[in-house]
Amino acid sequence: MSMPSRRRLLRTGAAVAVVVGVLGWRSAGERRRRLAGDVLRPPGALPEPAFLASCVRCGLCVDACPFDTLKLAGVEGPAQPGTPYFIARRVPCEMCRDVPCVRVCPTGALSPGLRIADARMGVARLAHEERCFSFTGAAYCEACYRACPLRGRAIRMAMGPTRRGGRFTPTVDADVCTGCGKCEQACAAADAAITVTALPGRQG
Ligand code: SF4
Ligand code: SF4
Ligand code: SF4
Repeated sequence: MSMPSRRRLLRTGAAVAVVVGVLGWRSAGERRRRLAGDVLRPPGALPEPAFLASCVRCGLCVDACPFDTLKLAGVEGPAQPGTPYFIARRVPCEMCRDVPCVRVCPTGALSPGLRIADARMGVARLAHEERCFSFTGAAYCEACYRACPLRGRAIRMAMGPTRRGGRFTPTVDADVCTGCGKCEQACAAADAAITVTALPGRQG
């Protein structure tokens, strides 16, 4: 191959590598954004900007969690690399009374002294009514209600005709719900009808 055409080939290769690199970076970023709705922070996490500034990505909270609820995000997400998160549908928070994850955090990114009952990791809601057996009348189901550690307060099965022909609506009191995710994990639908989303100004 002549020298000019080899140089052209090298230049083309370099350009392709840059484009692939940029696309790879963008798709990782996009994936992170797409999954952001599912991602919950540990109990006691400061509001997101303060949390990101305080968390030193040490992973001590993840190691301390006896239920394997917490994970550390990798370079591909679903949160900022090295930060702790959990996905309720996979493994919810068991609301440990002694909150081991918070106790080991060396920086206060997870608020020291948090009482687990005061945690507000997110809030549950019946996001997909069409999937809910009770709401559509396909069957009577109260799996989410039964799974809730605060059933009767954070969640109740409100009785009455629904828009889709059912007779019961799982109804969450956002002021009481801790965002533990037990209802989402327990949801009997193939894809959860009730889901927990992080609160934008989450505190605790
Ligand atoms: S409260 Fe318990 S289950 Fe929940 S994240 Fe902390 S250590 Fe894990
Ligand atoms: S223990 Fe605290 S500082 Fe360490 S990863 Fe967990 S939240 Fe971040
Ligand atoms: S997230 Fe679900 S299970 Fe947990 S407190 Fe809220 S309604 Fe109850």
